[in-house]
Amino acid sequence: MNLFTETNLSPDILKAIGEMGYESPTEIQKQTIPFILSDIRDLIALAQTGTGKTAAFSLPILDMIDDTSRKIQLLVLCPTRELCLQIAKDIKNYSKYMKDIKTTAVYGGSSIMEQIRSLKDKPQIIVGTPGRVIDLINRKALDFSAIHWLVLDEADEMLSMGFKDELETILSETPETKQTFLFSATMNKEVERISKNYLTKPHRISVGSINEVKKNISHEYYVVGYRQKKEALKRLIDANPNQYSIIFCRTRMETQEVADFLMQNGYAADALHGDLSQAQRDTVMKKFRLKNIDILVATDVAARGLDVNSLTHVIHYSLPDDPEVFVHRSGRTGRAGKDGISMALIKPEESRKLKQIKSATKIEINEKIIPTGDEIIKAQVGGVFEKLLTEHEDIFTFDDKLIPDLSNFTKEELVHQLLQFQLKDLALYYKDKHDLAEQKFNSRDDDYSRRDRGRDRDRGRDRDRGERGDRGRDRGGKPRRKNENMVRFFFNLGKKDQLKKLDVLDIINKATAGGGGKKRAEIGDIEILEKFSFFEIEKSFKGELLNNISSMKFRGKDMRAEEAN
Ligand code: AMP
Repeated sequence: MNLFTETNLSPDILKAIGEMGYESPTEIQKQTIPFILSDIRDLIALAQTGTGKTAAFSLPILDMIDDTSRKIQLLVLCPTRELCLQIAKDIKNYSKYMKDIKTTAVYGGSSIMEQIRSLKDKPQIIVGTPGRVIDLINRKALDFSAIHWLVLDEADEMLSMGFKDELETILSETPETKQTFLFSATMNKEVERISKNYLTKPHRISVGSINEVKKNISHEYYVVGYRQKKEALKRLIDANPNQYSIIFCRTRMETQEVADFLMQNGYAADALHGDLSQAQRDTVMKKFRLKNIDILVATDVAARGLDVNSLTHVIHYSLPDDPEVFVHRSGRTGRAGKDGISMALIKPEESRKLKQIKSATKIEINEKIIPTGDEIIKAQVGGVFEKLLTEHEDIFTFDDKLIPDLSNFTKEELVHQLLQFQLKDLALYYKDKHDLAEQKFNSRDDDYSRRDRGRDRDRGRDRDRGERGDRGRDRGGKPRRKNENMVRFFFNLGKKDQLKKLDVLDIINKATAGGGGKKRAEIGDIEILEKFSFFEIEKSFKGELLNNISSMKFRGKDMRAEEAN
């Protein structure tokens, strides 16, 4: 079966997927479509995100669903609101020409009353997150008596997010005659247990699993002491200009810390993790999709809801425990026929863990040395030209007469001047910096002090608490580490004034520039909201900032800052 037309799917479905550009089924679809169309057994499919899972189960089900009945026949459970919306959207697209088929998404973080109202449409298909489905069951808003198919999508994720009890309740609330399909990227003990208890003699399919590592991704690792990790990360980013990347961390706290570090250093970066409210996560994901930021620092779970195909790099800031998670993370790059690079920062004492990952995944991961300042500048020069020569949009026109007479300069001199201008800050930063590689071996043992170990243990605990990025629990905004030396300001401008993080950095720098040569104010969190913003700076610069900012303008608008409560 190499083309969809060779399947027995109905013309309405073929027409819809044809319009979406699907011609041939993906590997998982080749295996599941004929199985679901002809078999009554349960199914366990090992498949990762991006393999075409949604179509794999929904196309054959749509083919068989009874559109004359107005009862729920298919229930899809998935871990996050983003995935839920994505799956519902895909199914609606596939059933575009099946006018009697209705699909409804139900998830936390959104009005339950509105969702109850939308259920009055009598959808045959429900896509939901476990917590919200339970809430709706408790309110007697869902009738599962006619369920024919139950899909557990990303079962491993649902379990690691702590939805075990909810899944078991839902599984026992649905008719025994249903057919259950369990999709999971990894097969761990918990998934195994759920399948043993709730699936009957399941057929097993495995696609894109650990042995099918993508060939177009090159894997690198860099050994670096704990205390140099952030500096090493900065160097990796600087040495790979024009990147669009996800940096994976293990805990929410680490994620926020790394993102704060990058933002403070002027990168267009942000954090995505389960401590953010749903609205904050939506905003970050939107910014990343639109490329308003090009670096996303994320936990494994939070990054799941994000569907982007053009990542140039994946950076493992911390190694995951599970080798399959390493494959999964790395597989976020190198999509859609492009090449990708996966870079891992390894603490000296993690070499055994790296060995395990290498042997379990059979991936060749090559050691590289953290780039030196010179190498970084060289890469940046290349990056400038790459951008100059590949991105030529004529956004505005200008009169050639505006260009001064440059005949005294050679072409090389001009290019040289332009590069100096463009890369000045970076070159100054790396001017007197030691190479990290020189310090690497000194740091093997003594760098990872007892204090750091204790800190890592705490982080482990933080991780173990698990992420439940759903269920509409208001966490009351971002809990951040409180830094006694910083002061937080309310600022009267926001997104509606086209204010960007870089503008805020610039404004703060200008407002605190003071007597030349003085040290610069440390800048903390910057949060730009629709109508206003917040930023943090070092306390000792408070007076100077308040004095100066009121006489400054941004795009012709007056600026006003006051200490936030
Ligand atoms: P999924 O694993 O379901 O998230 O799908 C990953 C991406 O592949 C989605 O953007 C789908 O729209 C797309 N896709 C799924 N099946 C096919 C197919 N047979 N041909 C082309 N694109 C597909």
